[in-house]
Amino acid sequence: MPELPEVETIRRQLLPLYRGEIFREIRLSALAALQNCRAEDFQRLAGKRIDDFHRRGKFLIFECQGIYPVFHLGMSGIFLKSKAESLYPQHIHAEMRFKSGKELFFQDMRRFGNIRLYSEFPQFPGLGIDPLGAEFTAGRLNALLAAKKMNLKQFLMDQRYIAGIGNIYASEILFRARLSPRRKTHELKSRERAALFQAIPAILASAVENFGTTYSAYRTVTGESGENQHFLQVYQREGEPCHRCGRAIIKTVMGSRSTFYCEKCQR
Ligand SMILES: [Zn+2]
Repeated sequence: MPELPEVETIRRQLLPLYRGEIFREIRLSALAALQNCRAEDFQRLAGKRIDDFHRRGKFLIFECQGIYPVFHLGMSGIFLKSKAESLYPQHIHAEMRFKSGKELFFQDMRRFGNIRLYSEFPQFPGLGIDPLGAEFTAGRLNALLAAKKMNLKQFLMDQRYIAGIGNIYASEILFRARLSPRRKTHELKSRERAALFQAIPAILASAVENFGTTYSAYRTVTGESGENQHFLQVYQREGEPCHRCGRAIIKTVMGSRSTFYCEKCQR
């Protein structure tokens, strides 16, 4: 499932490929999951130039001269610059063509993603702070931790507090911070809060450097797998030795999601 690093990887790939491109047409499939708009509304994009790509949590925002198409990638959404790279062309829900001849395709097999259209820069009320943004400070994290009385795994995955972290990176962040996923937010000591503050952006930024994690659907814009799956310390490593202490990694279920951790290293 795409989390912040996968969406950010896509954004960074789209920028040099599509900034300055002018829409010729955009076609949506009958099954495209449109949230605040109708398929006809996308005709307004014809002739508009893409000036920038932004990300908020897991939302990808196209900035096109006063029109802002927004894509949420859901469980399986990806962008491809060539239809030939698509393994599931029947699941392409948006086809964008540009005056230069370039094309861009949005594929979403499981259709948990969605597409929106705004006339001004979209706000996402209720969406938490972006952990790679300037607003992510120790003070804000500490205030959130103190105010919530929940376990760390669920806290990290709740998009209302910190936006963009899902199941893979929540497990990896807690391993790096040496904290058990069962610990309660409001009970952390100050050095543990500091470790968490350090681990969150470090894990996400290194995953971006590795072009994201591919387990199933996720591909980069050029159709390639990410590389971060080769660097995971605990996720999907049940029974394998911890890279730090050698003890077998444990898998448990928390909030109906599988959680991986080392009982010895994470307290
Ligand atoms: Zn260990």
